[in-house]
Amino acid sequence: MRIAAGGVLHETSTYSSLPTTLDDFINDRGLYRGQEIMETFPGSNVCIGGFIDGAKKHGFELVPLLWTFAFPSGLIERKTYDALLEEFLQRLKEAEQAGPLDGVLLDLHGAMVIEGIEDGDGHFISKVREYIGPDRPILVTPDLHGNHTPLRVQEATAILGYDTYPHIDMNERGQEAADLIVRIIQDDVKPVMSLYQLPFFWSTACQVTVHQPMKEVMDYAHEIESRPGILSVTVSTGFPWADVPDVGPSIIVVADNDQSLADKTAEEFGSWIWERRRRWYQLPFSVKDAIKQGQDMGKYPIILADHADNTGGGTAGDSTEILQTFLDQKLDKALILYIVDPEVVALAQKAGVGGVIETEVGGKSHPTQGPPVKMKAEVKALSEGKFKYDGPMYAGLAGNMGPSAWIQQDGVSVVVVTAREQPFGPAFSKTLGIDCESMNYISVKSSAHFRASFEPFAGSIFNVEAKAIHTHDFAKLNHQHRKQDFYPVEIPYDSAPDI
Ligand SMILES: [Zn+2]
Repeated sequence: MRIAAGGVLHETSTYSSLPTTLDDFINDRGLYRGQEIMETFPGSNVCIGGFIDGAKKHGFELVPLLWTFAFPSGLIERKTYDALLEEFLQRLKEAEQAGPLDGVLLDLHGAMVIEGIEDGDGHFISKVREYIGPDRPILVTPDLHGNHTPLRVQEATAILGYDTYPHIDMNERGQEAADLIVRIIQDDVKPVMSLYQLPFFWSTACQVTVHQPMKEVMDYAHEIESRPGILSVTVSTGFPWADVPDVGPSIIVVADNDQSLADKTAEEFGSWIWERRRRWYQLPFSVKDAIKQGQDMGKYPIILADHADNTGGGTAGDSTEILQTFLDQKLDKALILYIVDPEVVALAQKAGVGGVIETEVGGKSHPTQGPPVKMKAEVKALSEGKFKYDGPMYAGLAGNMGPSAWIQQDGVSVVVVTAREQPFGPAFSKTLGIDCESMNYISVKSSAHFRASFEPFAGSIFNVEAKAIHTHDFAKLNHQHRKQDFYPVEIPYDSAPDI
């Protein structure tokens, strides 16, 4: 049995002014071809790693094509996408020339938007389908934040999304796809899918799968998965910072050769979620309220998730409201992870460790990110940015924050970086000599992924609404392309029952 595998992963913010180029794919998580994939990803927590591990378990030949991942950012340049797609299809063709292929495993994010193509993932799947024809299976393992469309469900054989946020089950989902593709080829399993789209905004703070209210949603999904005839249930909470027609949460039910069971089950689960829509929505705290509440509880370190400037969602990572507030309140043992500002890093490099720099930090990408903050700070450490992840999300994989500096003014420390990778854990700070566990206040430019590594030592955690382009006050997004009215924007908050 020979299965081709690969993927082009990107979560695209149509609100970000940073275009996504081929260099981003090459420099972010990297662009891997053929055998390089097999050497890099076995055992790692990415779906392609799970495909490789699954192939080993089942003894089939995995034919690696091309795999690449750019950090979330703005629209993908059309020429970049066209080049990646063309190379992928060329490699697929070469793989077929070397011997017959039985199917394809695709590692795609599910919220990819390209210049002129609103449903990037749907387009990619349909091009692979066009090449391999209607009979052979294509399985896709998207992120929990995909904006799913009817096109994908029509073109793929089965879609199996992540079950966790933070995403700690990517390898597991990859293996699940490998298990299912073997059953399709050998045991005559025939997946059929039903998509149920949900017209509401799902607050990030209500999506953490080990906590309520999200845990209940996933428990329900797993209960359905144990029913006869059901192969898989995907809950996708959507990615609201993409202004595309099919933005929003959805359910995908995969059943074995029974379309009416898939439809009925998707309807049952989808309407259960819709009836409880008030539960999945929560206005975030203001920065000051969050600090005050954490102090009142006395639970340190207080962690502020600066989710409106979550670089992991495609923002510039240089918003300043929290830094300014830390300085105004003269907080002690306070840390900002991170501020993207190459100019400040260059100054710090020039001053050297122990030097003092007087400069303006952050707030340079867009006025919405807040004004730059004046600082007179000591350079505590410098780094070229390379490190290894050690937390549950990407343990063992290489990270690179680019040239970076730890600067400190009184009790407030800032890690200034050049690359826009979100702080998944303290691993990079540790390389600079910072002990996150001894801090009182930590601000992370992340929505929830930080939790996998920070939660074990956090005293309290607040998702805060600081001024930045990815506001969680969803009415401000002013979607122009969305095809339905959404709760709680056009459909009023109070219209939903409090259950
Ligand atoms: Zn995600």
